[in-house]
Amino acid sequence: MSDDDRARPTDEPSTGESTTQGPLTTSTTDPNTPADPCDGIGDGPHCGSELGGLADHGSLYQCGGGLTQSATPCPAGCEAGACKPIAQDSCPSAMSGNGLYCGGTRMGGDAMVLYNCQNGATAGQTVCIAGCEVNPPGVADACNPAGDPCQGAMSGDGLYCGQSLPAGDPNDLYDCTGGKTVCPEGCQVHPPGEPDACKAVPNGGECCLHVPPGVVTQAFSACGNGGSHYGIDYGVALGTPIYAGIAGTVVGQQTGLPNCYGNGCSMQCWNAFNYVELKSDCGDPNNPANDLFVYYLHIDGLGPGIENGSHVDQGQLVAHSGNSGCSSGPHIHLETVSVPKGQNASLNTCSSENPAGDFCP
Ligand SMILES: [Zn+2]
Repeated sequence: MSDDDRARPTDEPSTGESTTQGPLTTSTTDPNTPADPCDGIGDGPHCGSELGGLADHGSLYQCGGGLTQSATPCPAGCEAGACKPIAQDSCPSAMSGNGLYCGGTRMGGDAMVLYNCQNGATAGQTVCIAGCEVNPPGVADACNPAGDPCQGAMSGDGLYCGQSLPAGDPNDLYDCTGGKTVCPEGCQVHPPGEPDACKAVPNGGECCLHVPPGVVTQAFSACGNGGSHYGIDYGVALGTPIYAGIAGTVVGQQTGLPNCYGNGCSMQCWNAFNYVELKSDCGDPNNPANDLFVYYLHIDGLGPGIENGSHVDQGQLVAHSGNSGCSSGPHIHLETVSVPKGQNASLNTCSSENPAGDFCP
C-alpha cells in the first residue's frame, strides 16, 4: 500500500556518469602520418588513455601546443590526468604477471598480506596469520602455514595484545617467547616499546558495588524517619538481567511467587517477593568488623546455576528482574544490610544502609 509504488518513477538513479570523459576531439589525425598523441589536445597533463591511439595508456603526457612535451610512465596506471598513487594498490608493481604476491616484496604493499594480482589490480587479499613467504620468480608467493600470531610481532619478543598481531584474538595477551594468556577483561595495547598487558580484572577483587540497571524510582530513606524505604528502587523492564554488584556467595533466594499488589499489600503479600541475597566476599567495605549482604527483590527468576551456596563473581548474571510480591510495577529493589561478622541479615531493619554508600566510584 503504499508510497513505494508511487515513488518508484522518481527514484531511478541518474545515468549522468557517462559524461565524465568530456568532449575529446581526436578526428584531426592524419590517416597517413601518425599524429603526436597531443595533437589537437589542450595544454596540460593527460593520461594516455585520453589521447590518440599512439599514446601509452599507462603514461602521463604533458601536452603543449599540440605536441608531447614529456611522457612519464605511471607504475600504478594513469587516471584523470595524474599517475595513480602506488599505495592505492600494490599489484600494478607486480612484474611477473597475474598471481599471488606478498606485499612486502612489492611497492606499497603490506608485508603481512598476500595479494591476488590480476591485470595489474588487486583482485583479493589475505592477511597471513604467520607471515607471507616470498618465493622465487615464477613461483607464487604464499602465506606461511597458519601458526603462531607471534610470527607477525613487529617489535621482537615480548607481550602483545592480539589486536597488535595478525589474526590475533583481541582478548588474548600473547607472550611471544611462548604461550598466551586469555584476558577476562580484554587486553590493553601500550605504545611501541612497552609491553601490552591484560586489563585489570575486577572480578572478585573490586570491593565496591556496581549500580543495578534501571532508573531510580524511589530513593533510600533512612531508618527511623517513618515511612522508611530501606533500599533503592530501579524501574526496569521485566526480564532485565541483574548482574552481581559485588562478588559473593548466594545465601538466600526465592522464586515462583506472583505479584500480589492488587490485594492491597497485606503483611503476607509484603513478605512474598522473589529475591536473591548475596554475602559479599569483601565484607562491608566501609566497616571491616561487619559483613555486607546485598539483596535484589521482586525478581522473576535466577540466573543459570544460581542456588544457595553458589559463588558469583562481580558482574555475573544472578537474576532477571520481575514484578513479584508487593510491587506496583516492574522494578528492582536493591537493599544492602551490614551486620557484625557472623550474624545473619534481615531485610527492612535499621541494619539496612543506603546502598549508594557502597557504590563503586
Ligand atoms: Zn523498594
